[in-house]
Amino acid sequence: MLRFRFPIVIIDEDFRSENTSGFGIRALAEAIEKEGFEVLGATSYGDLSQFAQQQSRASAFILSIDDEEFTPGPELDPAVLNLRKFIQEIRFKNADIPIYIYGETRTSQHIPNDVLRELHGFIHMFEDTPEFVARHIIREARSYLDGLAPPFFKALMDYAQDGSYSWHCPGHSGGVAFLKSPVGQMFHQFFGENMLRADVCNSVEELGQLLDHTGPVLQSERNAARIFNADHCFFVTNGTSTSNKMVWHHTVAPGDVVVVDRNCHKSILHSIIMTGAVPVFLPPTRNHYGIIGPIPESEFSPEAIRAKIAANPLLAGVDPATVKPRILTLTQSTYDGVLYNTETIKHALDGYIDTLHFDEAWLPHAAFHTFYGPYHAMGKKRPRPKDQLVFATQSTHKLLAGISQASQVLVQDAQERKLDRHLFNEAYLMHTSTSPQYAIIASCDVAAAMMEAPGGPALVEESIQESLDFRRAMRKVDADFGDQDWWFTVWGPETLAAEGIGHSRDWVLKANEPWHGFGDLADGFNLLDPIKCTLITPGLGVNGQFAETGIPASIVTKFLAEHGVVVEKTGLYSFFIMFTIGITKGRWNTLLTALQQFKDDHDRNAPLWRILPEFCAAHPRYERMGLRDLCQAIHQTYAKGDIARLTTEMYLSDIVPAMKPSDAYAHIAHRKTERVPIDQLEGRITTSLLTPYPPGIPLLIPGERFNKKICDYLRFTREFNAAFPGFDTDVHGLVEEEVPGEGRRYYVDCIQA
Ligand SMILES: *Cc1c(COP(=O)(O)O)cnc(C)c1O
Repeated sequence: MLRFRFPIVIIDEDFRSENTSGFGIRALAEAIEKEGFEVLGATSYGDLSQFAQQQSRASAFILSIDDEEFTPGPELDPAVLNLRKFIQEIRFKNADIPIYIYGETRTSQHIPNDVLRELHGFIHMFEDTPEFVARHIIREARSYLDGLAPPFFKALMDYAQDGSYSWHCPGHSGGVAFLKSPVGQMFHQFFGENMLRADVCNSVEELGQLLDHTGPVLQSERNAARIFNADHCFFVTNGTSTSNKMVWHHTVAPGDVVVVDRNCHKSILHSIIMTGAVPVFLPPTRNHYGIIGPIPESEFSPEAIRAKIAANPLLAGVDPATVKPRILTLTQSTYDGVLYNTETIKHALDGYIDTLHFDEAWLPHAAFHTFYGPYHAMGKKRPRPKDQLVFATQSTHKLLAGISQASQVLVQDAQERKLDRHLFNEAYLMHTSTSPQYAIIASCDVAAAMMEAPGGPALVEESIQESLDFRRAMRKVDADFGDQDWWFTVWGPETLAAEGIGHSRDWVLKANEPWHGFGDLADGFNLLDPIKCTLITPGLGVNGQFAETGIPASIVTKFLAEHGVVVEKTGLYSFFIMFTIGITKGRWNTLLTALQQFKDDHDRNAPLWRILPEFCAAHPRYERMGLRDLCQAIHQTYAKGDIARLTTEMYLSDIVPAMKPSDAYAHIAHRKTERVPIDQLEGRITTSLLTPYPPGIPLLIPGERFNKKICDYLRFTREFNAAFPGFDTDVHGLVEEEVPGEGRRYYVDCIQA
């Protein structure tokens, strides 16, 4: 049996007292420890209720209450009220952990029914021997712990524990190979023995097979399917990038027409290239902060899609009425947290597109809180489409407790169309390594089990709560600074509940509201996920107007990084953080403090050598500048290039496909490409994906032609990068070359002329 540290927690105000009740409870604690279980003694609930982590580490609670604590009379005693509050707090997250009350025989009469119902037992002081009581509690605690691990994780722990010698791969043999070298020893000590013992290969029968979905792996996938409201779940150990390719390869063949969000992740574009599909893109709105908005509801109709098919030069001569697109893929939660009402979309396209694919890389939490209503792919008790398979691909590792690359494909059958699991698995196999990492599978399993009610809903509620607390704290700082002074704002609706998590209707995007700047949106079609927080720095209006002064976000995030706060994504005048289930009050308070520090340093124009020492060590040219001067210099360069407008227009510009993405890509395989300098790009056809960071949204895909706007943008980037090394805008797909004496040159690989 693996030894875990899950203490039995005793809360008794006499735990350390020299009186009868103190002796009694300590005798029980000793008896428990003699049986090999750890005991954690506390003298008040207050010690514990602050520490959710302590609570989840307990294997049982013993809560003591004394008779003399009761006041006579019908109303509930404060001691009982405290007890009830504490028990409710535990049960909010944990339905199963054993809870005992320890008290005198008469005490039970004072405990109301709603509390008694939650108990595993009432321990009558001095009625049994401490040893007898200890064994009883330990049995319950063990049985609770035994029930915790979901099927695969349990089997893996058992296997790693079992100590059998293996002759199969991996070659490190449970970590032993590492012990034969000093640096290997270091690796072993760093990661620990269990990680290496649990790194097994798929010839271990008792763990089941990921690639065939058998044994404990299958049990765990079924368990996750149930938890996430799906009919099928497939764990994927290579990230949602791979999950997406599986969904596509199962459904799309060369020449098929597909409908895709233009703001999609690059793995979808890779899927288009791999399958040889002809994409029809749905363009999202954007505002001048660079925040991607929703695709308007009107685009999700067979008529609108047919019009796009008719206008696509790659489909010239095809009668749109005869085309049935194979799949619709939608980014369900943009980076900034914009969500769609999936019921509206299913309804609008049922019978026209048979496969809907919601890329929920950022949204695995939504199924666990009523806050998200229909704004995610698969909910409880929702009607099934008549004829549409619904896929959701989720990065368990982005917002839940999965380790990197943990991902899953969820599938919901239609009333009249079911997933053929065998056929799906052909695509699954095409993209899965034959040596999957078992720790990733285990984390898919555990991440799902953690979301089981009531724990999962409680965790999501806490994330929303923390995010709203953060937003309220930011508004309070703003109010304290007053109208005359600047502060960062958090992007989101004007109305913010004064406390608690409020109501999700406050987060529905309404037509023409100035805060979002996405224009005339359809009623109830989109929701902003509050756990995604985009912070706006001063300098740029939502209309794209540059202010006199400004603070480019890249400087703020560099400052934060040097203060130990690393953000998720940086835009021009915005950056982005997430309230995942791993975020704590301490973490966002640190961010808040660091932002205040930034403001101080900015307003004092503090010298950069002092406040960004690491950055200045790498780029001495900034050493003597002040923080405000640097902000102003970059701000003015942005303003001069009118970069907000340029980026928006570039993304909204008319991009013409000249050939199928897979045909353009074939030029790479056949080495028929040409490296074209950026001044000569206009009119050329790219063979690379071109993706600027920020915002990380692909701009051109293979087979599309460079237009003037995009070339202007690349030229601006070149000049900017030369002027502000260290703040470079990174454009994936650009080939850089350092020419001695001339500086950096930029090229893009294009179809040979
Ligand atoms: C991150 C992301 C992916 C890819 O997920 P990985 O797990 O990193 O492979 C797919 N789609 C979207 C929208 C993403 O943001």
